[in-house]
Amino acid sequence: MNDLKNIPITSLKGIGEKTAKLFAKLNIHNVYDLLHHFPRDYVTYESPVLLSDAKEDSIVTLKLTIAGSLRNKKVRNLTITNAMGRDNGAAISLTFFNSPFLLNILKPGSTYLFRGKIINESGRLVMEQPKVYTQEEYQKLMNGLQPSYPLTAHLTNHMVSKAMKQAVLSITEEEYLPDNILSEYALISKKQAFMDIHFPTCYEDMLKARNRLCFDEFFVFLLAIRLLKDKSEAQDTIYPMIETAQASRFMEQLPYKLTGAQQKVWEEVKEDLTSGKTMNRLIQGDVGSGKTILAFLALIMTVSNGYQGALMAPTEILATQHFEQLMDFANKYHLPLKPVLLTGSVSAKNKREIYAKIEAGDFNVIIGTHALIQEKVNYKNLALVITDEQHRFGVKQRESFSRKGQASHILVMSATPIPRSLAIILYGDMHLSVVDELPANRLPIKNCVVGKNYRPKAYEFIEKEVAKGHQAYVICPMVDENDEDSPLENVIDYTLTLKNELPDKIRVSYLHGKMKPIEKNKVMEDFASGNIDVLVSTTVIEVGINVPNATVMMIENAQRFGLAQLHQLRGRIGRGNAQSYCIFINTAENDSSKERLDILNHSNDGFFIAQEDLKLRGPGDLFGIRQSGDMEFRIADIYQDSKLLKKVSKTVDEILLEDEHLQSPKYSRLGTYLTQNMAKFIDFTSI
Ligand code: ADP
Ligand code: MG
Repeated sequence: MNDLKNIPITSLKGIGEKTAKLFAKLNIHNVYDLLHHFPRDYVTYESPVLLSDAKEDSIVTLKLTIAGSLRNKKVRNLTITNAMGRDNGAAISLTFFNSPFLLNILKPGSTYLFRGKIINESGRLVMEQPKVYTQEEYQKLMNGLQPSYPLTAHLTNHMVSKAMKQAVLSITEEEYLPDNILSEYALISKKQAFMDIHFPTCYEDMLKARNRLCFDEFFVFLLAIRLLKDKSEAQDTIYPMIETAQASRFMEQLPYKLTGAQQKVWEEVKEDLTSGKTMNRLIQGDVGSGKTILAFLALIMTVSNGYQGALMAPTEILATQHFEQLMDFANKYHLPLKPVLLTGSVSAKNKREIYAKIEAGDFNVIIGTHALIQEKVNYKNLALVITDEQHRFGVKQRESFSRKGQASHILVMSATPIPRSLAIILYGDMHLSVVDELPANRLPIKNCVVGKNYRPKAYEFIEKEVAKGHQAYVICPMVDENDEDSPLENVIDYTLTLKNELPDKIRVSYLHGKMKPIEKNKVMEDFASGNIDVLVSTTVIEVGINVPNATVMMIENAQRFGLAQLHQLRGRIGRGNAQSYCIFINTAENDSSKERLDILNHSNDGFFIAQEDLKLRGPGDLFGIRQSGDMEFRIADIYQDSKLLKKVSKTVDEILLEDEHLQSPKYSRLGTYLTQNMAKFIDFTSI
């Protein structure tokens, strides 16, 4: 399949430069990317109903015979085509806009299917601009599941699905799995799997396709970490440390006392660092459990031993915030830290200077985004690498530091609530610490799940909180106008709405991922320093941000997010001493969304939420409620597919026990495949 990465998407029929740009917005550049753009959901076309049974204002399919001939009418520059359709004695008027050609297509006396919304116009039934199908066409649709894809403005589902139809045909792949595994897991071929995940003819086929694709994701990933583990198992460190007074002095000076859980985890980290072996530890803790301070303690200990330490964050915003917080501490408590911030916003010239100073050891704490810290920088003696908010199980990121030949101590901090049994598999090469306690002074967040009618009240509530000197977040799923079938709120328009709805003195601003880093930082700084009262944002603020003065979060179209993601978002409030409030606006009309969101309404505990979410999900909820957009796995879900994950983990152990280098005839194809595909996880050549 890797060869498909070399085939640009413009090689597909119907995709020119302009359309390619739209695809690029979804990070789809080549046929391989396209094939991995999985449907968010499937639409099933229901059987047609009789007019007498059809509910007004609902979308239905009617099987109608055209009565009389069609008429075209011109109203200004609009052509309106009218037809009358009948079934079983009842009649409905069909109206089409700018489709004069229908005159030649819809024949009086013939029968077609019409799908659209039924409207009652003062006693007269009307369907406007329905989709029209022949009986054969509709039969085909009814048999299959139609994919609905994640989209972007001006890119329609039809365009994606047309391109996808060509893409699935271009797959040529030889099987790399041995027969016994194929049969043990009842796996279909990979080509078939791609065909059926995009265009399943029935539900069962889609499940089989998904099973194959999930298997592959877990299998390759787990093989990668097992091989990595064998390599990194408890090496002697070249950065031995001793306990110094600075860290404990800092701890005593803090305005608060560490929780029992923080103290316990700090002991574990200290023990690792002084053990003479290379540390490889994951710290797990719910949002707001206070992981940052643990990172700072570890950095202080590293620096006071004469080494450098790095702290990597997934976003510039978070990196900047960590940097500023650490600078404050360094000044206030006279710590021997010389921190530097390394992000994309730093100019090339400044970067060169910073690199030189890092190499000379003039900076001893380097804080920045992943990419920058890993690239090009030569360190004098980088003894500790901390990764904050690591949702991804980024083996590659962990690995890249040890590859430089001087294995640093590694500390990964994650707020993703993964049950221990799964964490042991997914972070198989790491030791695990859990911060399982929140600071004692916290008031639990008060939640509510409400419909869109509640909006005016929510705005009033925000106004009141701002009057008290607090701040608010408003989260929208989209950046700007979108082409999704159901309209979703977007940051740009919503900001205007709020500026109108709220009194002029309330300062409203916005933040989204498409803004330039410099603009983003400015907005975030203004919000953190209280110069913005209400921040309308996409989920870019999901990760790690700490503005304890923000006490309200209103989440629009809340049903469109995964529960774990909503929990992360909500974790941005309730960080100070004041009471905080989270308002989930549910704009879906089905009961299941309400039921799902109610879990958040009743609990602020990330582990509990993840478990309950799982219980509610039937096999039908395969897509759309992904845990988080940036997980390592594109289709598999560690919660939903936890059984498969555990089973694959066993299989991987068995295979490596049988043939640890994958060179026997039975596994040689697998070995070759891995060399080609594991690069995405680790640099295989270094093994
Ligand atoms: P997270 O675990 O989500 O990264 P942070 O480290 O950002 O959480 O901490 C959240 C807030 O709690 C911060 O404002 C921090 O100063 C505060 N905090 C951390 N530990 C304690 C504690 N033991 N007692 C009181 N407040 C604390
Ligand atoms: Mg954090």
